[in-house]
Amino acid sequence: MDGVRNGILAFGFGLYLSLTANPLNAQELSPKDDPVVQRVAPFQVFDNLYYVGAKWVSAWVLETDQGLILFDSLYGELTDFVTDGMEELGLNPDDIRYVIVTHAHYDHIGGARRIQQDFGAVVIMTGADWNMTDEPAVFQEYRKPIRQLTASDGSSLNLGSTRLHFFETPGHTPGVLSTRFTVYDNGYPHEAFMFGGVGLNFSGVARANMYIDSVQRIQAMEGIEVNIPNHQSSGEVFARYDLLKQRKEGAPHPFVDPDGFTSWLDTLLTKAQAKLSEEQAAAQ
Ligand SMILES: [Zn+2]
Repeated sequence: MDGVRNGILAFGFGLYLSLTANPLNAQELSPKDDPVVQRVAPFQVFDNLYYVGAKWVSAWVLETDQGLILFDSLYGELTDFVTDGMEELGLNPDDIRYVIVTHAHYDHIGGARRIQQDFGAVVIMTGADWNMTDEPAVFQEYRKPIRQLTASDGSSLNLGSTRLHFFETPGHTPGVLSTRFTVYDNGYPHEAFMFGGVGLNFSGVARANMYIDSVQRIQAMEGIEVNIPNHQSSGEVFARYDLLKQRKEGAPHPFVDPDGFTSWLDTLLTKAQAKLSEEQAAAQ
């Protein structure tokens, strides 16, 4: 009996340890940061564009004839989604030439150092957001990437026959980087845009005004047909992908939605104007 009792005690103790270890982990890891919660099977959206992001924050891979361009790097354990996802899709992370970081918040920049180190990719950001990496992190700490290329407003990047156009669209951070590029649907080109900083979780009249100017500037751009957001919910990425999977031959591509892009920008502007009023009232 003693032996059995000892066994039960030992087993109970083991169970106690594992039970106490897990709640501690769960406390450290919020659902946003938890890879079990955040895992999404990677998928292809256009001939040259793939989703390798998490549930709440996105990462995209653009394929060129001279290597891959990664938009945003996720963070913490979620960065595994980028590399695992690429391999699942038949892409080689060693082919990542550039990481375009839309802005220097941990959820976009957090994995950049790792991609830089493991795959020799070059990190691109605006000067203003590179400067943020010299300051304490705003929401959550992350490993700082080594400062490499600075994208200035109006500049472009060529990789093989692919060209990206960069715009500095500040507001969400002082140096949000937005990118215009071409995606292909069975060889047919469409103009895509990634607005690099959508959330209104910042403060101050000046920043609200910057944000409004940025949205108005994007509104004035012509010919954009596809919204590629850096948080999937900003462009209903998963809902559109569900439609894409059921798409009938010859039917329009669910991500090609110029009117949807226009009305989304209108909504952002309305919200930003309300935000500006709040900031002005708070400043008085
Ligand atoms: Zn952010």
